[in-house]
Amino acid sequence: MSSDRPDLAELELPDLEQALEAAGHRRFHARQVFQWLYRRGVTDLEAMTDLPKAMRADLATRVTIGTPEVVSESRSTDGTRKFLLRLHDGRTIESVFIPDTPAMTFCLSTQVGCAMGCAFCLTGKMGLVRHLTAGEIVGQVRVLAAATGLLTEPFNLVLMGMGEPLHNYENTMKALRILHDEHGFAVSPRRVTLSTVGIVPALDRLAHEALMPNLAISLHATTEELRSRLVPPNQKYPLGDILEACRRFPLKKRSRITFEYVMLKGVNDSAADARRLATLLHGIKAKVNLIPLNPAPGIPFERPSDHQIDQFARILAERYITVSVRKSRGRDIRAACGQLIVDGARLQIGRAHV
Ligand code: SAH
Ligand code: SF4
Repeated sequence: MSSDRPDLAELELPDLEQALEAAGHRRFHARQVFQWLYRRGVTDLEAMTDLPKAMRADLATRVTIGTPEVVSESRSTDGTRKFLLRLHDGRTIESVFIPDTPAMTFCLSTQVGCAMGCAFCLTGKMGLVRHLTAGEIVGQVRVLAAATGLLTEPFNLVLMGMGEPLHNYENTMKALRILHDEHGFAVSPRRVTLSTVGIVPALDRLAHEALMPNLAISLHATTEELRSRLVPPNQKYPLGDILEACRRFPLKKRSRITFEYVMLKGVNDSAADARRLATLLHGIKAKVNLIPLNPAPGIPFERPSDHQIDQFARILAERYITVSVRKSRGRDIRAACGQLIVDGARLQIGRAHV
């Protein structure tokens, strides 16, 4: 696709209404287009049979509907399905369907690559290629929901694929608005979790959004020094400032901020780390999600033993912190956290290391 025509999949409902009106059509047809696009997975204007024929013919010459194309799909023995999707400019991203966690969950990318450069993450090794548009973020849901037969079923969304969502703030929020629209997927923000390294000004901005997703902060360390080594943006937005932003973050009743903590053997997995973590989280409505490292070539860390992970979790639990250990899903197809990278980039890394 290479055209200057407006892409209907990039528009929020009010903008689509306006666009239709400007093209001489009736506004209410926008709702029908939303239903076709999001609830029925139809991207061919000709097939939108309740639109006037003349309107379909007119739109067909004036607009496009951009949809990521499935290049390949891998299925894990645990039911996880990873999709490699090609965007209109030939760039590729990965999105993952994780069944029964207990809900059906789609793990979405927000960027091609990522600029943050976390030391244990394959996506970080790619660097940032480009931001995804709102339509490309929502497009992953359209494609995955259609492929998994969930177009009209409830599902959860986690922004935990490739990219740092708060580094692509506008497009991510616009995508959430499109996803939330009652004429489309009608996804409740309670079903969406945004995972971030903690870009403080963006966290403060998020605190004022009407559509507030659940928040997960990728913490990974309990000292500024170690976190700056593992998560380079910590040099600009230190741990202490992020936790302050979390303390002032408006949480709904009964909701809590999740703190993700990738466990790296001999680096951040000691009893002293666990005790420090409990102290840092004091006064925050928090839960901790321990993520045992998913190892990968080129990632210079190891996964701690189960015993070490249990001990870490026990220290937190003794201090009344809710803690869970993330079961990694889809490792056999390289679909687990931090393992998403598109093949071209992997080849480059391969070359860089030989
Ligand atoms: N950029 C966002 C969201 C995508 S990453 C963020 O960093 O929060 C989703 C989660 O996977 C993050 O908590 C991230 O730290 C974690 N992760 C990255 N690489 C990993 C790896 N190799 N093993 C386990 N978890 C990893
Ligand atoms: Fe980017 Fe998240 Fe990977 Fe860090 S862990 S490099 S922020 S995708």
